[in-house]
Amino acid sequence: MSNTWSNWSGFVSAEPKLIASPGDAGELGDLVRTAPGPVRVAGAGHSFTPLVKSQGTILSLERLEGLVSHDAQKHQARVRAGTRLGPLMHILQGIGQGLPNMGDIDRQAIGGALGTATHGSGPTLGAYHTQLETVQIVDGLGKVRDFKRAGDRDMIHAIGVALGAFGVLTEVTLNNIATYRLRRRKYVLPITEMLRDFEAMMAAHRSAEFYYIPFSGYAQFIASDFSDAAPTTRPPEEDEAGLRTLRRLRTSLAWLPSLRGRLIRSAAAKFPAEDYVQDWLNVYASDRQTKFNEMEYHLPFEEGPKALAEIIELTEKRFPEVYFPMEVRSVAPDQFWLSPFYNRLTCSIAIHHDAANDPLPFMRAAEPIFRRYGGRPHWGKMHSLKAAELKKLYPRWDDAMAARRDIDPENRFVSPYMAGLFGIE
Ligand SMILES: Cc1cc2nc3c(=O)[nH]c(=O)nc-3n(C[C@H](O)[C@H](O)[C@H](O)COP(=O)(O)OP(=O)(O)OC[C@H]3O[C@@H](n4cnc5c(N)ncnc54)[C@H](O)[C@@H]3O)c2cc1C
Repeated sequence: MSNTWSNWSGFVSAEPKLIASPGDAGELGDLVRTAPGPVRVAGAGHSFTPLVKSQGTILSLERLEGLVSHDAQKHQARVRAGTRLGPLMHILQGIGQGLPNMGDIDRQAIGGALGTATHGSGPTLGAYHTQLETVQIVDGLGKVRDFKRAGDRDMIHAIGVALGAFGVLTEVTLNNIATYRLRRRKYVLPITEMLRDFEAMMAAHRSAEFYYIPFSGYAQFIASDFSDAAPTTRPPEEDEAGLRTLRRLRTSLAWLPSLRGRLIRSAAAKFPAEDYVQDWLNVYASDRQTKFNEMEYHLPFEEGPKALAEIIELTEKRFPEVYFPMEVRSVAPDQFWLSPFYNRLTCSIAIHHDAANDPLPFMRAAEPIFRRYGGRPHWGKMHSLKAAELKKLYPRWDDAMAARRDIDPENRFVSPYMAGLFGIE
């Protein structure tokens, strides 16, 4: 059997000695103790950085999935960490609960989404890890350990965004909300207006985000708010067709930016506006088929428009091959030690590059702009930072590293990539 693993975009691959799918925490504990190291755990492989890569063992939790128990009064659900978000949405809807927010897709495992601070958008809405009530892990010695928000707050704050380095999550209890319905609106407007009114527009909705369409001067704004109205039909998704148009114009007119811009603007002006009401689980996720690589930085909220303006200028002056829209979101502050949203309201800016092309020149040129504005990188998306730089961005860094040593005293979860991130010799 081939032991090849690769991530969603194909940019990261590994040939570990062993790929294993334990069926329970006991089997998992044995593997953590005895399998060839380093031992890394995979979710759905949707990270763009080599977090999962290992020359030793890669553990898949695909057999550890599903609902364990729930509390209807508190809207809490205990689930196995290998559960994918798609099935999780349906499990929760079936017990009258909803995830308070979601990102772009529903393909990740909950353990993987927690592992990198995966987030959606909304100034009062935290990333998935802020929903944690209890966490069960298998630690680096193969022992099962349980932590609760009430009583083990520090450990929850240490483990919540854990990069597969603070034990293998086996079960988590999530604080959800009662199932709900959303009204979602989407329309195109000039980027100048979007940047001018950024703070007000992002704050005016429960969840708001926008995409800037490179070389067009236009943004596509998307807002969702609670609704009691009857559901209406969700229009068919046009994102993939839109991408194909943008790629065609890129390929034929890369060096004619003004003509390209004119054609994109006239195409954008015809993008149909959307306005529909649906249950929460039918609103957030999109189907992403065109493979890309991505960098996302999390900046102090008020710096978002200035940083984005610089990224747009860089792209349009020097990187005509770029055609993927840039995504701009907001995320609520939290108290988790390795959370990029630690103690600050955030504006997240994501740039994408077709997976068929080398993303590094574009990413390397953009990263200093994000860093100049005080950005913290998304843990699962491309960045070049190592321990010395990361430590300066995270006030509780030393506490997090001490918690990691307690959980994994023999560095079983430390691959070369993780050693660079954490500064482990
Ligand atoms: C098309 C696409 C769209 C995306 N959209 C968004 C978005 O909207 N918002 C956003 O924030 N990100 C987004 N991402 C990034 C993605 O959500 C994160 O990289 C996420 O971590 C991937 O989850 P995964 O299950 O694939 O985990 P993996 O990438 O497989 O693993 C991520 C990390 O979690 C660890 N891990 C996984 N399972 C466990 C476990 N049980 N216990 C301990 N550690 C574990 C791994 O070791 C690794 O360190 C997107 C990625 C893609 C490809």
